[in-house]
Amino acid sequence: MIALLIFGGILAAAAAAVWLVLAEVLVWPPPPPWTGRVIAGGLAAAVLGWILHWAGRRLQKFFRRRCIQCGREAVKGSIYCGPHLREATTLQRERSELDRL
Ligand SMILES: [Zn+2]
Repeated sequence: MIALLIFGGILAAAAAAVWLVLAEVLVWPPPPPWTGRVIAGGLAAAVLGWILHWAGRRLQKFFRRRCIQCGREAVKGSIYCGPHLREATTLQRERSELDRL
């Protein structure tokens, strides 16, 4: 989504710039009055996308999940830190083995 915003913005700005250059070189047709706005809008979208991308990564780091048992930084995609994740999986395995008996 954010990548699309960056890519789309750059693409729009580049397309408008190319159109503007072509219009200048070919003289006809005259450059449409909105090319400048499209370039500015495209660049703004790209910059906004880049800022959102940067802020998103910052926030992700800030709101990194904590282990529910000890409060240390959790393993990515888990609610436990490394040692507690191992502990939990071992416990889970033991439980399932007991169920089978
Ligand atoms: Zn822990």
